[in-house]
Amino acid sequence: MIRKLISFAFAFLLQVMVYAQTDQVMQISTIDALLSGVYDSDFQIGKLKQYGDFGLGTFNALNGEMVVLNGNIYQVPQNGKTIQPPLETCTPSAVVTFFKTDKTLLLNQALDFKQLEQFIDKILPTTNIFYAIKIKGKFKQMKTRSVAKQEKPYRLLKDIVNQQAIFDFENSEGTIVGFRFPSYFKGINVTGYHLHYLTTNEQAGGHILDFVIDNAQLEIDEISNFSMIVPNNEHFYHVDLSEDKQADLEKVEKLQK
Ligand SMILES: [Zn+2]
Repeated sequence: MIRKLISFAFAFLLQVMVYAQTDQVMQISTIDALLSGVYDSDFQIGKLKQYGDFGLGTFNALNGEMVVLNGNIYQVPQNGKTIQPPLETCTPSAVVTFFKTDKTLLLNQALDFKQLEQFIDKILPTTNIFYAIKIKGKFKQMKTRSVAKQEKPYRLLKDIVNQQAIFDFENSEGTIVGFRFPSYFKGINVTGYHLHYLTTNEQAGGHILDFVIDNAQLEIDEISNFSMIVPNNEHFYHVDLSEDKQADLEKVEKLQK
């Protein structure tokens, strides 16, 4: 019995080790499910650590923005006061990976979000694989948002995004944590760049709307594997995911001008 248990534990450990060595993105649920109001799942954030030490997402009931950095999971609620929530907290949407740097570049031009997207796109070997993007340094400006915790019955994300709290930081020091997904990922995840922010003092951050870089180091992780776990609940089972929600996504992810 004991021998069986030991071999089982060893097999499990081996599996975790193999997983950590595979450069892979893992995500919970789909972006279209989130846009359709599936704001709950029973996937605990503590379990995310098996799949990555770096990433982003949100929490059940849409209770703020998630930043995963150096294996820690941060929650930026609508009041902006960032905490590390209990690991039993659940997430309806998250993306994580074990960050391994494939490329490093120093950025010392005053690039904004759009300019940075163009800059990075030019240096990527292809736009058809997945990228984790880490940018650590100083930002002349940083504009983030966080969403309000929702009450049931849930309204659609596009209808509540006007209640978001917007945070403006000047001369802020911190880390951008994000991903770039290929255009064929429409409906599955945010195509193109999706970036979150955490200040170096770990007290603030959010979903990035815009920024201007002062001086920072860009690290890119090139990833060719992808896996996904979808929620096992009635809401996800019955939500209609047949429609194209790209217009809603634009409204939700980008800065309203
Ligand atoms: Zn976000």
